[in-house]
Amino acid sequence: MYIFKTVVALQQFLNDRKEEGKKIGFAPTMGALHQGHLSLIRESQKDNQISVCSIFVNPKQFNDPNDYNKYPITTNADIELLESVDCDVLFLPSISEIYPNHIVTKINIDIGHFSKVMEGEFRPGHFQGMMEVVKRLLEIVQPDNLYMGQKDFQQFSIIRLMIQKLSLPYHLVMCPIKREADGLAMSSRNVRLTPEGRENAHYIYDILCQAKSMVRTHTPTQIEEWAMDSLYEHKGFKPEYFRIVDVNTLLPVWDWNDAEDIIACVATWIDDVRLIDNMVLKP
Ligand code: AMP
Repeated sequence: MYIFKTVVALQQFLNDRKEEGKKIGFAPTMGALHQGHLSLIRESQKDNQISVCSIFVNPKQFNDPNDYNKYPITTNADIELLESVDCDVLFLPSISEIYPNHIVTKINIDIGHFSKVMEGEFRPGHFQGMMEVVKRLLEIVQPDNLYMGQKDFQQFSIIRLMIQKLSLPYHLVMCPIKREADGLAMSSRNVRLTPEGRENAHYIYDILCQAKSMVRTHTPTQIEEWAMDSLYEHKGFKPEYFRIVDVNTLLPVWDWNDAEDIIACVATWIDDVRLIDNMVLKP
């Protein structure tokens, strides 16, 4: 695997590959890699001759400095994992490579409520910072295909909107959520759970599954209230939201006929670790 730390070196390599007619697939990450991340690389390998993974912990998207400072960094293990799946390129830039003084990364598009609901309510500024880094990385890599996970469903929706609004020439592919054996969605933050927190964390998935089984007998609002109450009942759990929304607009639904595709999204603290998850409830 080639490892590049500078934009110039990466672009030189990729330009040569593009001239050879090779397609480039790209999966941006913040490292502390797990099988969820690797599934993006595997998906990329199906349709591209060159698969690029980036690892960059983007300070601009952390609204909580404590979360940024505690974000796990496991570069050597990440390199081993990427090599184990034959990833072609790792881009490992410094902050000054991504945000040099002469480059303006601010994005002036109106994405309306997309950045204000759910994660946007509880992590102000997060999506602006996330869009800035993804757009900057896309301009650097200029891939044919971009791979992102359903795990961060709202993030995916916002990047899809950004690509549409700015008419960017990248094809976005959504990859399914990879889970641990007990159903907990894989996340870099899971390693920070206490043993007790880890033991109970599957409860987030259990509630999503139960929510899905309640669709025929309960309204969306009833399920939201039941799910919040159920999460609160668990020791160490402090839920922020459990919302049932239209997959395409992220607007709340009051009735199952309000939208063709409906998804439940949840965020909860378990002790001092904040986890998110989601599940499509309809169809
Ligand atoms: P992160 O490193 O958390 O910023 O995630 C980088 C990419 O990996 C994002 O597109 C995530 O949605 C995706 N991802 C994270 N966890 C999972 C998972 N459990 N399954 C599938 N994709 C994931």
